[in-house]
Amino acid sequence: MRRTLLNARIPGERGLIGSGVNVVIDDGIITDIEFVGQTSAFALPGREADQGEVIDLGGRYLIPGLWDNHVHFGQWALMRQRLDMSRAESADHAAAIVAEHLMLRSVNHDGAITDPVVGFGWRGSFWDDVPHKDLLDRYTGKTPIYLFSVDLHTVWLNSAALAEQGHSSSTGVLVEEDCYAIEKSLQQVDDETLDAWVHDAARKAAARGVVGIVDFELAWNAEAWRRRIRNGNDLLRVEFAVYPEHLDRAIDSGLRTGDTIASTEGLLRVGPLKVISDGSLGSKTAYCSHVYPGLSGPHAKGILNVAPKELRALMRRANEHGLDSAIHAIGDEANSLALDAFEAVGCDGSIEHAQLIRREDIERMAVLDIVASVQPEHAMDDRDVVDREWAEQSGDAFPLALMLDADVDVRFGSDAPVSPLDPWQAIAAAVSRSRDGREPWHPEHVIGVEAALEASARTRFAVGEPADLVALDIDPLRASAEELRVMKVAATFVGGRPTHLAL
Ligand SMILES: [Zn+2]
Repeated sequence: MRRTLLNARIPGERGLIGSGVNVVIDDGIITDIEFVGQTSAFALPGREADQGEVIDLGGRYLIPGLWDNHVHFGQWALMRQRLDMSRAESADHAAAIVAEHLMLRSVNHDGAITDPVVGFGWRGSFWDDVPHKDLLDRYTGKTPIYLFSVDLHTVWLNSAALAEQGHSSSTGVLVEEDCYAIEKSLQQVDDETLDAWVHDAARKAAARGVVGIVDFELAWNAEAWRRRIRNGNDLLRVEFAVYPEHLDRAIDSGLRTGDTIASTEGLLRVGPLKVISDGSLGSKTAYCSHVYPGLSGPHAKGILNVAPKELRALMRRANEHGLDSAIHAIGDEANSLALDAFEAVGCDGSIEHAQLIRREDIERMAVLDIVASVQPEHAMDDRDVVDREWAEQSGDAFPLALMLDADVDVRFGSDAPVSPLDPWQAIAAAVSRSRDGREPWHPEHVIGVEAALEASARTRFAVGEPADLVALDIDPLRASAEELRVMKVAATFVGGRPTHLAL
């Protein structure tokens, strides 16, 4: 089928004030880009029959559709249902946010007084006070309260929640295994409910210009997404990762990276094998060449989850069956080891996060043609933690400019729910290394907006390319970092089909 997008503009065009383009799309592919004057040639009567469905973009700017190359989509959909705790500036403030929420809930008669409240997203690293059940108990009575930290490694409960869980704790703060068990008990939602939340989250993503995601949900994603797309959630292209516990199943099913899954309108494709090789910065488990300040013992340099030999064996087996590898590596040592493995196996793939990486390893990454799948907004979330934990090497953290200079294939993502599924936040962080008016952090790693948009797209705006497109009110190449961060998206198209329209 044919569609025509009328009166679009190309970002950065100079000396062409008032001129624009009409974009002709046939069966999802851009087949013509016509430069026109202020009055469109298509406005002439008699041409309408050729145009198919017409959408007038009214002079808005067109860019290639945006991808989020690292999300945990089910988790993101779930977290969006939870009380947002990200603005809490202290434990006391967090308790006040809960109190305010309970008050609003009772005013709106929204739920019974004993329905639990689940919150998510607090960051306690720099609070002056510490979470404690007593802080919550002051406000919450019989309502169970569960507040998860942004990395999901810690949960803070009130006394009612402890009672509900049959847990005793003098502080109400539970970490690691205890925390995961509680997370699991709260995540028991049926497929239908989760799919509805996922659909809602997909709508929000489309409204930010997202046309595709790589889903790293720890699940058998092939089936979940096939079901969702069949049930009408057709807003995003999805590539899904396979975890080691599902590798045999993927191989038995003949899944190969890049394959399209049948009966999904071409939207669902097989992604890579995902292996989590080390931990995270926030929990001081990212595997590094140096000791974390204040740590001693066998894990003072972080934790390697998978021994090098085991990593190679996994990657080799995946490669033999047509699956690329996506290796989670955050510390510099983990990144070196991941590259050693790519070198030894000779397979394609990506390093996920690559937060702290030696300069010689950036060169190796380029030579081996391994994708750097990075989350620029994490640099803004974690700059103070980096300065503290990786003080000696903070200049080697999130080195986007060095990666681009070395010709590494850089792709952006959010790692939602760790940061919001919004590519404009990643783009703004990458071009400014700044947020909330703070001074730029290691501005030598700032990159240009054109490069940032490229790292967020998979297609180009050209004849013969898929019509995955986004229409914007303002020219992104002339926008400030603050404007980029809150960029209004007027329309999103996946294969020419509108998935978001706010014209
Ligand atoms: Zn992740």
